[in-house]
Amino acid sequence: MSVKHKMIRAMFGLMGLPTCEEVEQFAYDFLEEALDSSTMKAVGRHLRACKNCQRFIAAYRKTAALGKMFEKPQLDPEFKESLFEFLVQKAGGRV
Ligand SMILES: [Zn+2]
Repeated sequence: MSVKHKMIRAMFGLMGLPTCEEVEQFAYDFLEEALDSSTMKAVGRHLRACKNCQRFIAAYRKTAALGKMFEKPQLDPEFKESLFEFLVQKAGGRV
């Protein structure tokens, strides 16, 4: 860890802002905006001052977006129902 980074960390401590480790832990909830507003603000302020975490959040956002893209789509129950009926009819009404 560089001296500059140590100074930044000390400054965050003085300002009552989360450390880089905490920002990493909050990353998911921060991107989902699931944190309480004071924590959202604190993480936001940390990000403005910290290049490392900006990069981390940007990379995290990309990964999270990819994760969502590959998530299995949920079949909605109505579709399942009509698919079931279709199959029953195909089978000649016998279940
Ligand atoms: Zn940081």
